[in-house]
Amino acid sequence: MEHLRNFSIIAHIDHGKSTLADRLIQAAGLVDARGFRDQILDTLDLERERGITIKSNTATLPYTGLDGRTYQLNLIDTPGHVDFSYEVSRALASCEGVLLLVDASQGVEAQTLANLYAAMEHDLVIVPVINKIDLPSADVDRVKGEIETELGLEADRAILCSAKEGLGIQDVFEAIVSRIPAPQGDPSKPLAALVFDAHYDPFRGAVVACRVFDGRVRVGDHIRFLSNGAVYKVEEVGLFRLKREPRPELEAGQVGYILAGIKTVSDVRIGDTITLNEKPVAAALPGFREVKPVVFSSIYPVSSDDYASLQDALEKYKLNDAALVYQKDSSAALGQGFRCGFLGLLHLEIVQERLEREYDQSIIMTIPSVQYRFTLDTGETITVENPQYYPDPVHIKGTEEPYIRAAILCPDRYMGAVLKLCTERRGENPRFSVPGPGRVEIVCDMPLAEVIYDFYDRLKTVTQGYGSFDYEWIGYRSSDLVKLDILVNGEKVDALSLIVHRNRARTWAVQVCDRLKEEIPRHQFKIAIQGAVGGKIIARSTISAFRKDVTAKCYGGDITRKRKLLEKQKKGKKRMKMVGSVSIPQSAFVAVLKTD
Ligand code: GDP
Ligand code: MG
Repeated sequence: MEHLRNFSIIAHIDHGKSTLADRLIQAAGLVDARGFRDQILDTLDLERERGITIKSNTATLPYTGLDGRTYQLNLIDTPGHVDFSYEVSRALASCEGVLLLVDASQGVEAQTLANLYAAMEHDLVIVPVINKIDLPSADVDRVKGEIETELGLEADRAILCSAKEGLGIQDVFEAIVSRIPAPQGDPSKPLAALVFDAHYDPFRGAVVACRVFDGRVRVGDHIRFLSNGAVYKVEEVGLFRLKREPRPELEAGQVGYILAGIKTVSDVRIGDTITLNEKPVAAALPGFREVKPVVFSSIYPVSSDDYASLQDALEKYKLNDAALVYQKDSSAALGQGFRCGFLGLLHLEIVQERLEREYDQSIIMTIPSVQYRFTLDTGETITVENPQYYPDPVHIKGTEEPYIRAAILCPDRYMGAVLKLCTERRGENPRFSVPGPGRVEIVCDMPLAEVIYDFYDRLKTVTQGYGSFDYEWIGYRSSDLVKLDILVNGEKVDALSLIVHRNRARTWAVQVCDRLKEEIPRHQFKIAIQGAVGGKIIARSTISAFRKDVTAKCYGGDITRKRKLLEKQKKGKKRMKMVGSVSIPQSAFVAVLKTD
């Protein structure tokens, strides 16, 4: 075990985590220069485009140190977004140390701190690494100062490197072997392995990534998952070397994978403990919890003919993403669809984009909602995330909504703008601190419902890209909620209903009415669009009837032009939803989701 090191790289987004991981993999000789492409670990297209890591990946790197010994370094990659913070915590629990990467020109940022705290919670050794020293704007002395004052770490022990130029890479390797301790554990004890990730292989089923703390696991063993007691026979174990590399066994201290004929990743719970069925461990490894969705939205096919195809796509998608939950749902306006739960808004966007791109689905998603809590006159408390199930107001005795504590870090010149944004979003009790010269941290309590929506985009806008944002869940608080309905020619469009704070209802209603007015084409008759709370109209807009037949202007003229026009209309119809006698284009449902 002396030759093992288990570590992770943590950093604020864009500080160079993926680039450094690539460089380490390349330097370890896992790939030659030809087989190399940037960001090897970020395998999904979407990750590469957005430059974020959605699913974590792991790689075992061989390294011969200056002391002449050969080490096996296990790099455990972590997802880089708050939606996936539980997965991050399980990955960190599998490590003995982390490289804390800081950009030499940007310095310490909100996520750097949040990551540091997470690493400290697991008692990990922290190796500060200052990256991008090749940049002309690099200011190593200033960043060292921030590492001392803001992070409380010894800055003169920080490693200087440029992941892009390949500078200081050996120093990074040497720091890993000399500063991060070898794992401890007893191979002769009963097996205890921590599941920190799982992905799907179409031929082998779930590939379980785990860290073995005690004991050993071999091919043919019967393993048991402690959370649900499920037992499987091990088909293969091994190390991650970009591809899977089978080994006879994994023992205490090791990080690797297990294949055991497990059908889908939904059968595997991140954070679970794996043990041997015949000789189980006495207690589960600490920190396990069930991951619960926090943001909900319904997905409908644009054309109801595509319902079966959407169901198929969701089933396939779900094989690889245990965090997505869904069940059948139906709407009077949109027909058959699925109600889905997501870890956060980024997760929602990922699912939406992948369904459209990789599974070729044309979908409509309803306005995302959080889970509200209602106390009824019977004394019963119920949770509701689908506005369709909003309880009868006469029976509601109390309403509550989930709150988060937001931490925003930005240059102090943007403080006014950020405060204004927080107030608009019903932020409460703002507090400030000055983590470094010219910078301010604003902490405030906000309803989750106000941030699941474009909050991050707005923050980036008002801080010209300098603001960073992180949040933690703080629980439910009582709130004055109402249900807002949208009516088109008197007909309720249930897919556009929304549970919202009373003070925000009008703004929302006006916005939705305006958007729909822009998006719904004129009809032969006048269309009234209304926003209503409890039967009371609080906003309205009208689309007047059009006067002429679209084809009238080419009457008697060019017949092909006329045909083209009719074809275009027909095509347009496919992407239309009928509500009563009004056809609403798909774009209208998308447009109401956008705020600005
Ligand atoms: P991540 O979000 O932390 O994974 O960051 P990435 O590795 O995706 O890097 C973000 C950007 O910084 C990319 O455009 C990289 O090419 C660039 N970058 C990373 N390391 C360096 C470096 O050492 N020097 C310079 N100049 N750019 C770098
Ligand atoms: Mg990255």
